[in-house]
Amino acid sequence: MSATATRLLDNYVAGAWTPATAASVDPLDVINPATGEVLARVPLSGAADLDAAVAAARAALPEWRAVSTIERARRLFTLRERLVERSDDMARSVTAEMGKTIADARAEVARAIEMVEAATAIPTTMQGRILEDVSRGIDAETIRQPVGVCAAIVPFNFPAMVPFWFLPFAIACGNTFILKPSEQVPLTQQIVFEVLDGMDLPKGVVNLVNGGREIVEGICDHPGIDAVSFVGSAPVAKLVYERSARAGKRVQALGGAKNHMVVMPDAVIGKTVDGLIGSAFGAAGQRCMAGSVVVAVGEAHDRLLPELVEATKKLSVGDGMDEGTQVGPVVSCAARDRIEEWIDRGVSDGAQIVVDGRNAGGPDGSSFVGPTILDGVTPDMAIAQEEVFGPVLVVVKAETLDEATAIVNRSRFGNGTSIFTESGAAVRRYRHDVEAGMVGVNIGVAAPVAFFPFSGWKDSFLGDLHAHGTDGVDFFTKKKTVTSRWFSDGQGHGSYFVED
Ligand code: NAD
Repeated sequence: MSATATRLLDNYVAGAWTPATAASVDPLDVINPATGEVLARVPLSGAADLDAAVAAARAALPEWRAVSTIERARRLFTLRERLVERSDDMARSVTAEMGKTIADARAEVARAIEMVEAATAIPTTMQGRILEDVSRGIDAETIRQPVGVCAAIVPFNFPAMVPFWFLPFAIACGNTFILKPSEQVPLTQQIVFEVLDGMDLPKGVVNLVNGGREIVEGICDHPGIDAVSFVGSAPVAKLVYERSARAGKRVQALGGAKNHMVVMPDAVIGKTVDGLIGSAFGAAGQRCMAGSVVVAVGEAHDRLLPELVEATKKLSVGDGMDEGTQVGPVVSCAARDRIEEWIDRGVSDGAQIVVDGRNAGGPDGSSFVGPTILDGVTPDMAIAQEEVFGPVLVVVKAETLDEATAIVNRSRFGNGTSIFTESGAAVRRYRHDVEAGMVGVNIGVAAPVAFFPFSGWKDSFLGDLHAHGTDGVDFFTKKKTVTSRWFSDGQGHGSYFVED
């Protein structure tokens, strides 16, 4: 397809599809990483485009807030049904623009829809608290009200799901919302906003602004935005957290990860291998909950490694759209080059490469890296400490569970971790001691369902209220506490209740 025929994406502002008018740089190509095909072009909107979205979101606040809580929940029931109808389109879009397998993309879309389901509970979850007689004849109550205009900035690796960590909870609570998708994968949210466009929401309740750094910085600074949710790499999470906080906003910033998977000598090896492979190589390792370090305790190493290597070599790498593919491409040629440099560095630092996914080939413009395993890695090597964000698994040895836990706790990240064992005592100890916010027991990707918070720690999360679950409701509401007494109470003050 020639560049002139390629679709240029619009923003969605004040209930209408709107071209970006303030872009100061050329649009970027959106590329299918399995084929190299240019799918669309995305504008890098400018400050005036963001201003328009903020103005629309602010203008919509009084009308949307006045819609009853139950009616807002009903709108989410409708949204859920319409997303289910478009779920196959969304999954195909995820695979086309991001590369993950179609089965994985369907699971991602199901998780996005699950977020809407959790947000429909808002008439219950948004309730406040009341205590009668905090003093004689005086009551205290805390009610929850919307925060205002909320914005979310999201990464490339979950084009469907991560925006839904925020959008349904924000609007369920009576806020209005602005989304800035990743400029690498803006297409799936075009489908989502087509669905939202058909829902008869007041204009300006939901807005979409495509762009990059300029829009992110604008969101942090904009006086018309009250709360910012960010998901992405650790350096940008820090930047967004600090800059938004400096502007006086409520902010939650989810950053990068380096997730460890501890394998005890008593682990059920076959099932453990399945769990490790799904975690390390699913979505080509581009999940913030991907396990990227195996810590093999004692004899677990020698029992595990041959089966792990054999199963990894059998994985089929290819276009995620083919149902038989198990590992798709990584998101871009830049990502492929960065990941291959990490593998080179691991080898030059002394690791042994036991499965080598470099030079995986593919059509021109595609970006494949095959599953890769490095053994003989020591905890001090950079490859054991830094996020690679690709299909690269490193294997470290430990003599005891305590030593394994110490290795895990050295990490500056604390997103997720898993332990594979049949010992309840080992699990109890690990759960108690490990410094990570999401723990899997015989589960390789322990990403919490929508009803629980996505509770990363350390450099993987800046803020105090996490995404989704009851934390999501807390983040998107302000508490107001009212202390009251009444004088016309029939106790000698006034006469409403006194029979003449
Ligand atoms: P990224 O940080 O490059 O981009 C995230 C967002 O920030 C994008 O919308 C992008 O436009 C914007 N951005 C990028 N660079 C910027 C800059 N210099 N200034 C301002 N804005 C900028 O992240 P990514 O590569 O899209 O996503 C992968 C990262 O996200 C990984 O580190 C992964 O671990 C992390 N992630 C974390 C979680 C979590 O829950 N903790 C979930 C998903 C992804």
